[in-house]
This record gives sequence, structure tokens and C-alpha cells, in this order.
Amino acid sequence: MPVTHYTPQTQTTLAFLTAYHVGGAAQWFDQPQDRAGLEEALLWVRRSDVPLTVVGAGTNLLVSDQGIAGLVLSLRQLQGSTWQPEGRVTVGAGEPIARLAWQSARRGWHGLEWAVGIPGSMGGAVAMNAGAHGWETAQVVLGAEVLNTTTGEWRYLTRAQLGFSYRSSVVQQEPWVVVAVDLQLSPGQAANQLVEQVEQYNRHRRQTQPQGYPNCGSVFRNPPGYAAGWLLEQCGLKGQRVGGAQVAHEHANFIVNVDQARAQDIWTLMAQMQQRVQAQFGLNLQAEVKTLGEMTIL
Ligand SMILES: Cc1cc2nc3c(=O)[nH]c(=O)nc-3n(C[C@H](O)[C@H](O)[C@H](O)COP(=O)(O)OP(=O)(O)OC[C@H]3O[C@@H](n4cnc5c(N)ncnc54)[C@H](O)[C@@H]3O)c2cc1C
Repeated sequence: MPVTHYTPQTQTTLAFLTAYHVGGAAQWFDQPQDRAGLEEALLWVRRSDVPLTVVGAGTNLLVSDQGIAGLVLSLRQLQGSTWQPEGRVTVGAGEPIARLAWQSARRGWHGLEWAVGIPGSMGGAVAMNAGAHGWETAQVVLGAEVLNTTTGEWRYLTRAQLGFSYRSSVVQQEPWVVVAVDLQLSPGQAANQLVEQVEQYNRHRRQTQPQGYPNCGSVFRNPPGYAAGWLLEQCGLKGQRVGGAQVAHEHANFIVNVDQARAQDIWTLMAQMQQRVQAQFGLNLQAEVKTLGEMTIL
């Protein structure tokens, strides 16, 4: 494939593309509009030998204030879904999973109602095995079409091959980009009841999670047997602040950007939260949020 004309954007500020609204610039940046554009970008990466970072909608990312070297590739434009008989739906990696929650409920297809409050993309949901209300992405995935970033090889990975576990899947360890996902839902249900369930999940979020300030949802994974939010609350961390970053009053496992926070403020606050839980409970909290680029321990 000829790639001589391919030129990604340079020095694109990622703060506008992440839910925290923090972070420096990507050295190179692109959002392919289709598969051909994605293949072209990946070929350029291989030929140019620059580092590659794949992102979705940026709702689970903490990007360094110093930015990111190499090409940052966002798949958020690869949207669209094809609804097939028998409850099967094929979804582009960039499709917002919350939109799918509404669409499937209105069709009377059960299985995605829980996803209504998750602002990320379908590809990000597979990478993270996103979940809520006792459900997780793995439960509705049949398989995914993926592209190997180092070889350019296309493959279809079944649910088993995707290696789902708590907030993780194989694409976090292997050089696979999720391009499209097959879901299996349960059709033939009462649409009005599914829509009511979606609305109830939405109401619950509004009552229990911070609204109005940029955030990335849960900062830390739940350690076995504990809710990270409960541990952090027991440590008296609600309201704790570093620069423009604050532990949310509504939920101690959320950090909100209340006043032009830097990534370093969030990173330092995360370290303080980990230290407090380690000191009080002897537990080592692991970040759920993905950090991109260099951070400094102050
Ligand atoms: C208000 C709020 C509420 C949230 N609530 C929840 C919740 O209830 N449950 C939950 O699980 N999460 C929640 N999140 C976190 C986040 O929405 C999920 O982790 C989501 O799945 C991330 O999707 P994304 O497209 O934004 O991915 P990004 O944040 O862009 O990326 C996250 C990771 O996925 C990888 N990735 C993204 N797309 C692809 C792809 N196409 N191929 C390969 N790898 C890819 C990236 O490399 C990165 O490692 C919440 C976030 C916010 C802001």
C-alpha cells in the first residue's frame, strides 16, 4: 500500500480528547475514519519505527502533562452497528457503548442496560472488560475482529481468546487493536421494561457519582473482598485535594478535576490515596485508570 502521502497531525493536545481534560500533546495524532485509514496509519508506524499508543474515547486515561511520544491513534471514529436477527449485533470499535445500551433496550434486546453510564467506546469496553451493576462486557461478547499493530495481520478472536478478566482482556498485553465486536443479546423482551431499567441505572449514577466535573470514573480497581471506594472513604479522603484535583465528595474512588488540574496533581493525589489505604488496611490499591506518558513521583 502506498503511504508516502500519509501525514498524521502533529502536536495535538490530548486534554480535549480525555475525560479528565488534562494532559499534554501527542507528538503525532490521528483518528482514522475507516479501516483503510487505520491500516495506512499502522503501516506508517511500522515504516517510521515510532512508538504507537491506541486509545478509544479517552474516558479511562490519565495523560502526562509532558504529552506522549510517537503516534496516538484514536479509534473513536470507527462507529456504526449492524443489527442482525437473533439478537446479534456487530459494532464498530468507536461506537459509544452507552448509545448501544439505549438502542438495544428500545429494541427489546436485553443484555446491555448496565452500560448506559459508561461513556467509553466499544473497543475500550473490550480492552477494559468494562462493567457495572454486576455485569461486564465479557458476558455479551461473542468475538472481535482485531488488527495486529506489529504485523498488520487481521484476526478474529473468540470470547475465550480475548482472555477477559476483571477490568482486563488480552488486548491490554498483546499488540491487538479491536476494530469491530460481535455481541450476543437476548431479543424478544419487553422494551418498556428494559428502557425503565436503563433509566433507573442512570438515576442511580446521578445520585451516587459526581456530576459536572471532569473525571474518569473509578480510579482504582476493587481489591478482592473490598470496594476501593469504601476503603478510601474509611481513610477520610473525601475532599482531599492536590492542586486542581480533588477526591470527590460523592464517591471516594473518583478524582474530579475541579480547577484546571494538571495530570501531575491527579497522579500525586493517587499516590496519597494509595499510601493512606496501605497504612490503614495494608492493601495495595492498583490503578484502574491507564496512565500514558511519564509521571514524576514527588
Ligand atoms: C463518568 C465515568 C463513569 C465510568 N464508569 C465506568 C463503569 O461503571 N465501569 C467501567 O468499567 N468503567 C467506567 N468508566 C471508565 C471507562 O469509561 C471505561 O474503562 C471504558 O471502557 C473506556 O473506554 P474508552 O473508549 O474511553 O477507552 P480509553 O480510555 O480511550 O482507553 C482505555 C484502554 O483501552 C485501550 N483501548 C481503547 N480502545 C481500544 C481498541 N479499539 N483496541 C485496543 N485497545 C483499546 C487503550 O489502549 C487503554 O488501555 C467510567 C468513566 C467515566 C468518565
